[in-house]
Amino acid sequence: MAAGNIGACIACGGKNEPLIDRIWDDRYGSPGIFSVLKCENCGQMVTSPPLSEDDLPGLYSRYYPRGNVDLGAIEREAALVLAPGASEKRYREGTDNQGHYAVLPGQNVLDIGCGSCVSLLEVRNLGGTAFGIEADPNVRAIAEHFGLDVHIGSIHDNPFPGRTFDLIVLNQVIEHVPEPLALLRIVRERLAPGGKVILAFPNTGSLNRKVSRGKWINWHIPYHLHHYNKKSFGLIAAKTGYRVASMRTITPNVWTILQLRAFGDVTAEGQASSAWTGRGPSVPSTSSFAMRWKNRFASRVSGTAGRTMTRLNRLVDRLGLGDSLLVVLHKQD
Ligand SMILES: [Zn+2]
Repeated sequence: MAAGNIGACIACGGKNEPLIDRIWDDRYGSPGIFSVLKCENCGQMVTSPPLSEDDLPGLYSRYYPRGNVDLGAIEREAALVLAPGASEKRYREGTDNQGHYAVLPGQNVLDIGCGSCVSLLEVRNLGGTAFGIEADPNVRAIAEHFGLDVHIGSIHDNPFPGRTFDLIVLNQVIEHVPEPLALLRIVRERLAPGGKVILAFPNTGSLNRKVSRGKWINWHIPYHLHHYNKKSFGLIAAKTGYRVASMRTITPNVWTILQLRAFGDVTAEGQASSAWTGRGPSVPSTSSFAMRWKNRFASRVSGTAGRTMTRLNRLVDRLGLGDSLLVVLHKQD
């Protein structure tokens, strides 16, 4: 099969059919025209042609924005997890779409793709013991500064040998991975008895995806390689030895803001978007760790527009039609 095995759906083996013919990196301007294929059976989608593990370091280091690291800002942000009303604030802003908030005191937590390490500091502040895995070597200095146990590399390196975890979280990670089933199988082996995996990732079953079509910000081509919905992810979970304990959507308000901005943004292939890489009001001045900005700027939305967005997003989430799925998995016995 040409172009790396994208003929069959990874979730159900069904036939993939073209959904979007021409789509490109409309954020950071990496070159290439891609398409999105959709399984005619379960709706799972895949970016074509696919990228391999070998393609990723060059792509991310060349095009994915990394800025200066502000250690003080990271520490201050993580301290807010203990502020009065923190969980209500996360609910309003849709920033509780991250698995590590489920930590209980005394638990071992592994965050795969821990980025800026804010989540690890939050776990520590909430009484857990935090471990992280991150591909970006820039994170080493952050981890060392805060005395955090972070492996720079991949879970396939067998980091923290012999250790198992009560909670393993993958926040906006599984859609970036070339071989998600292999990752889920190896993650399963690292669960402590009774442990759980919590994943958050974009939901192709969202109302916004249907309305935004090719402009949906969560296509994020070519960085997002696989695109999931509730049904297809349920099939993948069963195939990799898990039972789905819960599945719901949580839409960060800042995603909505970025989606609205994206509508007015027209880029050609190979051209970076000023909305994503510039210094506009919703773009972090330290634009490193792009997978984390999504949450940090939600708090800037206030007033009537913010309250309206909160009401709408929480309603859409109650209907299960939000943009980010939060899935809790247990080991299948
Ligand atoms: Zn399928």
